[in-house]
Amino acid sequence: MTTTVVTGANRGLGLEFVRQCLDRGDEVIAGCRNPAEATDLMALGPAKILSLDVGHEESIEQFAAAIDDHVDVLINNAGTSATNLGLEPGSAGVLNAPVDLTLDLIRINGLSAASMTRGLLDCLGEGSQVANITSQIGSMVVGARFDDLPYSTSKAVMNMVTVQLASQLRDKGISVVAFHPGWVRTDMGGPQADISTEESAGGILSTLEQLGPEDSGSFLRWDGSTHPW
Ligand code: NDP
Repeated sequence: MTTTVVTGANRGLGLEFVRQCLDRGDEVIAGCRNPAEATDLMALGPAKILSLDVGHEESIEQFAAAIDDHVDVLINNAGTSATNLGLEPGSAGVLNAPVDLTLDLIRINGLSAASMTRGLLDCLGEGSQVANITSQIGSMVVGARFDDLPYSTSKAVMNMVTVQLASQLRDKGISVVAFHPGWVRTDMGGPQADISTEESAGGILSTLEQLGPEDSGSFLRWDGSTHPW
């Protein structure tokens, strides 16, 4: 049986990853900040729902310590925006974004993928996959057109974490890939976004099933196509 770990699993894309992984028969270990309030997640019935705040190292360590299964797929999905951290609209530009808040977002959206992978390293092995849910805005090509320093740099950091993990874990047979999930209809993406959570999560999961070790270190879209760095 495939064991899959999903972070930020209580709503949005994370909840849909859990739903589809359960549907295909995976054992799912779900992390979220407030398990007691995660009613939609509880209703799906994953094997474990564990407390996890990816912005805090102790929380990541406690989460990892509660897992002793072999992990086949780790989906680093949890993420947030500068607005969610309290930044006023219009204050996130490269000429005015506050540095401390930008660093907070880099910790949550970017460095947490490294901490999660480190924490679960003993559970990962030959054939395991780490999927980092990044954004096209973390790309140097696409990000240049946006004026949101905290979010774009946080996802650029996640992209760098992806290629460095891919390099360091290649000898262990662990693959690490970054996915732009598309513009998805969630609380973050909004109701006008292009695609549903079903389409995005489904595309990412079926792409993961087709990837081989040679694909480690790639930046892909939800439909499996290559995204420019
Ligand atoms: P949502 O805002 O709908 O959900 C975000 C999830 O991340 C929630 O479960 C939230 O938990 C969790 N989360 C936020 N901060 C933390 C934290 N510090 N520790 C643990 N969990 C946390 O967003 P989406 O589902 O749309 O986004 C999923 C991922 O996809 C994110 O990484 C996002 O950046 C990325 N993405 C999304 C796009 C879109 O169009 N929707 C486009 C590009 C990338 P809680 O309920 O506790 O806040």
